[in-house]
Order: sequence, then structure tokens, then C-alpha cells
Amino acid sequence: MLKLTVLGSGTSVPHPRRSSSAHWLDAGGGTLLLDISGPAIHRMAQEALDWANLDAVWVSHFHLDHVGGLAPFLFGTKHAPQTRERRKPLTVFGPRGTEKLLRRFDEAGDYKLFTQPFPLEVRELAPRTEFEVFDSLRAETFSTPHTSESLALRLTATDGTTFVYTSDTGFTEALAGFARAADLFLMECSFFRSKPVRTHLELEDAMRLARLSGARRVMLAHLYPEWDGVDIADEARKFWDGEVIEARDGLRLDITK
Ligand SMILES: [Zn+2]
Ligand SMILES: [Zn+2]
Repeated sequence: MLKLTVLGSGTSVPHPRRSSSAHWLDAGGGTLLLDISGPAIHRMAQEALDWANLDAVWVSHFHLDHVGGLAPFLFGTKHAPQTRERRKPLTVFGPRGTEKLLRRFDEAGDYKLFTQPFPLEVRELAPRTEFEVFDSLRAETFSTPHTSESLALRLTATDGTTFVYTSDTGFTEALAGFARAADLFLMECSFFRSKPVRTHLELEDAMRLARLSGARRVMLAHLYPEWDGVDIADEARKFWDGEVIEARDGLRLDITK
């Protein structure tokens, strides 16, 4: 099984209803947090998710709307009553440089974030690498045209359910191949139209990837405030007739086939 809870459907821009990037994935045998923005650590509590027993964190890249909550989360788990008895390891998966980033932050304030009640492991992954997140979840990475370290993730559950999370990315057709036939293709769609940068997607790009991938369902997230007041599913239908879901903070979706 794979169950998704959208914690943050927005960007780095402060927004009243869209917190910055974070998605909670329950894979039955374990839980994975996909990106960890600053607000994510409180969003987990707001959604009554078992953050104290979280198994793994995925860091897609080093922009602060994706990783800004990592050090604060580890500062929390170090001191929270809920994690005092925890002995199960927590693994942080991310691109090359993840450990250095965290160590620099740690040293800047002498926080001792690596000293936790439980083992903390950082595992860095190259593009096109397959790995096991935990027993019931396999993963593969893919380099995206956003920042040099940015990675998309393809997850496969034991029952064969597949979920692809692009995080931030520019357009490349190869991403559609990576997301082939996914049960859920969670894409960034920063902009509606006339995007100001090549390192993000606009609706037409996202729908082209949706069509080329043959994904069963598509969800659009990382929505800048220019999307406010736009019916995203309605607009998406003009480019692709498949099922498009607008990510909203608090949305829960069963991805299982
Ligand atoms: Zn971002
Ligand atoms: Zn970014």
C-alpha cells in the first residue's frame, strides 16, 4: 500500500493556505517524508501523523523550501519527550552533499544534531541509483534540470504500486520515461503559463510529461501564488484528458493500484 498526505503544496513564498514542500508517504511497513521544508515539522503534527516514528526523510535538493526543516526537525527529535525512548534509526536520503550541508548547519550553532536518542544515518545517492528505503519500499533516483544536485524519485511498493515525485525540475522528456506508467506522478507545476525560468515547469510542460509518461494519475504541486483563483484541473484538461489532481495542504490520497 502507498498512502500520501500533502503537507505543503506551495513554494518558498509565504502563503496562507499553501505551506512549502513536504509530502508524507505511508508505505505500510514504514513512513517516508518527501522533502522537509521549515513548516513541514509542524504540519506533520497538525495532520496527526506519527512524526516521532518517521523512518526516513528524502531531500530532493538544497533549496530551503525543501530542506529548511531538516535541522529544526533534528533539534526537535533530540529534545522531544516523544522520541526519548526511540531506538529505531532515522535515515536521511539525499543527493551528494547532504551530509556536508547538515554538518555545516550543525557546526554553525554547535547544536549536536547528530547526537540523538536513536541512530541517525545520512545516505547520499547519485543519479540513476536504485536503493531500498525500508523493507517495503524500493527507490530509484533521476537527475533533474533544476540545480546541479536535484533528484527526482521513483518509488515502488511490494505490491507493485509506483509513485514518482519530481520535486523541482525544468522540462526534459527523459523525465516522462522515468515516470512511465506510474500509478501517481507527482509533478511540480510552479507556473500557469509564460514561465520566467527554465528550471521549473508550467502547465503545458507538465501535461506534456503526463501524456508521454502514460501515468495513471497526475498530481500537481509546488504551486506559486499566481495559481490562486485558477481551477487547475479545468485548465489541465485543455492539454491532457487524464486525471489531474491539484495538491492542497491536508489532501490525503490512496495511491495503491
Ligand atoms: Zn522549491
Ligand atoms: Zn528548488
